[in-house]
Amino acid sequence: MSLVDEISHLWTQALGLIAKVVSPDWGSLVGLLPLFLLIGVIGPLVSILAVVWLYYFVRRPRTKVRFVEGPRLALLAADGLPMFPVGEPYDVRTGLIYPPGTSQNDAGELLSVTCPMCGIARFADVTTCHNCGLVLKVDRRIAVRTLQPAGPPPGGAAAA
Ligand SMILES: [Zn+2]
Repeated sequence: MSLVDEISHLWTQALGLIAKVVSPDWGSLVGLLPLFLLIGVIGPLVSILAVVWLYYFVRRPRTKVRFVEGPRLALLAADGLPMFPVGEPYDVRTGLIYPPGTSQNDAGELLSVTCPMCGIARFADVTTCHNCGLVLKVDRRIAVRTLQPAGPPPGGAAAA
């Protein structure tokens, strides 16, 4: 046996001894590793997620209010076509219903409106129906609401 072999043998023995002494501690440390991982990595991640979730949760009521005030999505009929209520401006392309008094969408394109009396669609900036002559005051929400039951859309199909 050479000196180098002897030293390395001793070293291995020493390492084994150290390992024996240290091993319980290492074992418990390794056992705690998931916990450290949990605290160090998953903990902050969950906190960030919680903050993001809370941020959206707190903001959601505000967006809800804005949604009621702004355009709302039209309900779809059985045939898959959007059902637009009469007397309220709507966008045929996006299927959005806009509040009374709106004549253009966000892109500046003209909206349509269905006449509450005859059910003919026209551009929302035109207040007088070219078919029956009914003047629709789209800027008055109450007037539009009371006009609605008087003229149900024929067949419910979008005339546009
Ligand atoms: Zn009309």
